[in-house]
Amino acid sequence: MQTEKFPIVFAGHVDHGKSTIIGRLLCETGSLPEGKLEAIKNYCRLNSRPFEYAFLIDALKDEQSQGITIDTARVFFSTKKRDFVIIDAPGHIEFLKNMVTGASRAEAAVLVIAADEGVQENSRRHGYMLSILGIKQIVVLVNKMDLAGYSETIFEKIKAEYTAFLSEIGIKPLGFVPVSALNGVNISKKSRETSWYHGKTLYRFLDLFKAKEHSAKQPFRMFLQDIYRFTESGDNRRIYAGTVSSGTLNEGDEVIFNPSGKKSRILSIESFNTPHKTSVESGSPAGFTLTEQIYTTRGELISKAGETAPHSAMRFTAAVFWLGSEPLSSERFYFIKIGTARTTLKLIEVTKLLDTSSLESKKGNKVGKFEAAECIFEAGKPLSFDTIGENQETGRFVIVSDYEIRGGGIILDSLPGTASVKEVTAAEREKRFGHKAAVIIVKDEDFAVELEKTLFALGAFVCYLPDLDLSSNPHEIRTMLKSGMIILIKSGCNDQKNVKNVPNLGGMHLLEIKNGSVEAAVRELRENGILLL
Ligand code: GDP
Repeated sequence: MQTEKFPIVFAGHVDHGKSTIIGRLLCETGSLPEGKLEAIKNYCRLNSRPFEYAFLIDALKDEQSQGITIDTARVFFSTKKRDFVIIDAPGHIEFLKNMVTGASRAEAAVLVIAADEGVQENSRRHGYMLSILGIKQIVVLVNKMDLAGYSETIFEKIKAEYTAFLSEIGIKPLGFVPVSALNGVNISKKSRETSWYHGKTLYRFLDLFKAKEHSAKQPFRMFLQDIYRFTESGDNRRIYAGTVSSGTLNEGDEVIFNPSGKKSRILSIESFNTPHKTSVESGSPAGFTLTEQIYTTRGELISKAGETAPHSAMRFTAAVFWLGSEPLSSERFYFIKIGTARTTLKLIEVTKLLDTSSLESKKGNKVGKFEAAECIFEAGKPLSFDTIGENQETGRFVIVSDYEIRGGGIILDSLPGTASVKEVTAAEREKRFGHKAAVIIVKDEDFAVELEKTLFALGAFVCYLPDLDLSSNPHEIRTMLKSGMIILIKSGCNDQKNVKNVPNLGGMHLLEIKNGSVEAAVRELRENGILLL
């Protein structure tokens, strides 16, 4: 028996009838609470408003949001075969964020196009987003067929036009259905009006959507989330924990941590408060011990020996969808989060900037809000991943800057390049930390502490050293600067004049910051090219 609700999204141009279709579905599948429909019809009568099926969704959402805090109010319905949960429509920014982060992931989509208006900008844009988000199971409804006289010609024309568009972005829809949500045509019941249509109703198509069970058969992948130690004394075993993204792991399997390449064998699969298991499958949280302890860190992607290995690289090509109000550009550093791995990210080149509606390439080296592009990126350290074609779970990433998710993307290919570096250079440290090594002189203790905290939170490698006197500790300073650090020191004995006379500190970045706001200081650091974050 299936217990999980199947997540589905309804997309399409505004007013093409998404809410009406959902309202109809709720009614025709008997998914409304007892008396709800009558109550709303009554309310409309009393207030002399025409009844709209679309009201049903709002009524349900209102009901749900009372009392409980929920991010996105969700609507549920059931067919005979399974339960569905409707995720918000992709026009909404929250939906996009949730989808790119994986917080909510629709597995199928219903795209709605009104017969009287035909394919519109959003019909295409939403189709494109679904393709970027990796949603391949799509049914297209040509709605408001009543306004087009239930004309087969109009239906076929829209079908041909939209099929051509979808094929350009690699989507082959399961089918097109002529419907009238208003009159209940082809939602769950066939109708005489469209006797020329011999395909399935929407209801029948819903049951054709496949739940993602296939990922258990894919190569094993798990991003390492944490390493726990057994607490009993003398026991030095560790539990390696994470969530299985795909595949299956068994006791005795040989595993490889990527990109470090370290190998070991599964000694035991650990369960907490549940009966002991000897194997775990995709979607499950997992913890295991190894036959030999190895030194590894959060963010490594674990694979199994004998199965296809993931890619490990610093450079890769990706299709990205940008949500940030500041455009994605090569002038700034970002963070990439892929699974549990996190590092700095630099845009190297925009290879294709796309108008998501016309699919025409535009010119430009920046990606604006709601634009999509194919880009070459370089991460601050080698990352392990799969391409989206190989694995939906490990081929997806988000781009973060100033603590906010600004974009999401899918990896198209890994590129050869800078992954095998012999000696770590200053430039590589800059790239990793997102700043140059520097000495910053500040006046006031409290200000120094605040600035340190802010820079640290941004991800900088920074330390406030109140007692450091530059002229007497040049050696220590040189060593610390070599490590790529931003050192905060107090003025006084460290005024610029003295500091300049310290031997062998040539070329170091030195900045004296007058008291002011921390934000202004951060800005100054950016303007001086020290802070790239
Ligand atoms: P949404 O913005 O895509 O959710 O669209 P709605 O469901 O709110 O519908 C927009 C308008 O189109 C409403 O006034 C509906 O009553 C109307 N509408 C929806 N479906 C149909 C239909 O099949 N036929 C006709 N004639 N009107 C419809």
